[in-house]
Amino acid sequence: MGSEGDPPAAPRDADADAPAVELAGVSKRYDGTVAVEGVDLRIREGEFFTLVGPSGCGKTTTLRLIAGFEEPTAGRIRFGGRDVSGVPPEERNVGVVFQNYALFPHMTVGENVGYGLRFSEPPGDASRAERVRELLELVDLPGTADRDPESLSGGQRQRVAMARALAPGPDLLLLDEPMSALDARLRERLRLQVRAIQRELGITTVYVTHDQEEALSISDRVAVMRGGTPEQVAPPRSVYRRPASRFVAEFVGDNNVFEGVVAGPDDARPGAAAGTGSSDGTVPVDIGGETLRVRIDESESEAAAAASPSPGDRLTFCVRPQHLRVGRAENGLRADVESAEFLGETTRVHLDCDGRDLAVRAEDPLEGTVVVGFDPADAHVIDVGD
Ligand code: ATP
Repeated sequence: MGSEGDPPAAPRDADADAPAVELAGVSKRYDGTVAVEGVDLRIREGEFFTLVGPSGCGKTTTLRLIAGFEEPTAGRIRFGGRDVSGVPPEERNVGVVFQNYALFPHMTVGENVGYGLRFSEPPGDASRAERVRELLELVDLPGTADRDPESLSGGQRQRVAMARALAPGPDLLLLDEPMSALDARLRERLRLQVRAIQRELGITTVYVTHDQEEALSISDRVAVMRGGTPEQVAPPRSVYRRPASRFVAEFVGDNNVFEGVVAGPDDARPGAAAGTGSSDGTVPVDIGGETLRVRIDESESEAAAAASPSPGDRLTFCVRPQHLRVGRAENGLRADVESAEFLGETTRVHLDCDGRDLAVRAEDPLEGTVVVGFDPADAHVIDVGD
């Protein structure tokens, strides 16, 4: 922290190799509530980084801490290696877009965008009017400067809010649920536009959403948060294919989670290699009296890959609904059809397997009792424990 009277540290001219934004052991408590706890994050220059998680997991608080609207109770936040403790929001060179547009109704679209320049001159040699025009073109709203914001659609207003946030040429763009007030179609279109604008500018962006599909579709990396702490930080494909915990497995997309006990060689199915781990890398797991084989390889979650499962160990794994094949008896279980939801391209069928809910994808309606099985390589091991 600078001594009294020092000018606040500006984020510019920082260490070029340092992450654009770093949170080191950051916590935020409000009286009895822990909003954010021990958060360590390193967000890279030019990255589109998303904080995703259920309501109350600390996403907005984390974003507000980065913006400088809140100060951490513990830990440090650095921009380009420089500690920004005590630096007020308007001196952090960040642009912020909120859920509710926050456009001024008594100002035109152009005046709203120009308001983003109240603390600074336009970057480069551009005049204010040129900068406003340039930004409205960037967000694909050319020629709207004289319009009343009320005359725009929700998606267009949010793009105006984005143009306003980008007006001073910030180093960092922070977006807090910017699409949650829009209908599904508009959200899909707007997320493509937001991503295109971010790519064009190459601006480091931190995005908050509770919508896991949005997070997967828009981000370079995702932090899945739970109870104030990121539970997994990884590119979207890794989070989807190799969830690090049961929580992540169930929060991101549909999933079927199985908890069982590693079986001994005697429990293994006929034909399976002897021993717990077989030559094909599969392990037999007892699920309520049935033995299923799952494959563990180096691409599994860290905890699972590090552990070498022995008979009697608890093992948790998941299989996506699209990988559970109806009618596949090999490596399968019997289950009763409970209900089905027609989703257009596919039908999600809910099954009851000895009290365990399973979801599968089907093209045709199903009824009665079915067998569902999976390829051991399509199982992802989440955890192995004693
Ligand atoms: P949502 O998706 O519902 O906005 P979130 O993941 O963004 O949730 P936060 O808004 O960061 O979560 O809140 C995290 C926790 O901190 C919640 O329990 C919330 O009630 C609490 N909290 C946040 N701000 C304050 C505050 N100013 N005073 C007291 N508690 C707060």
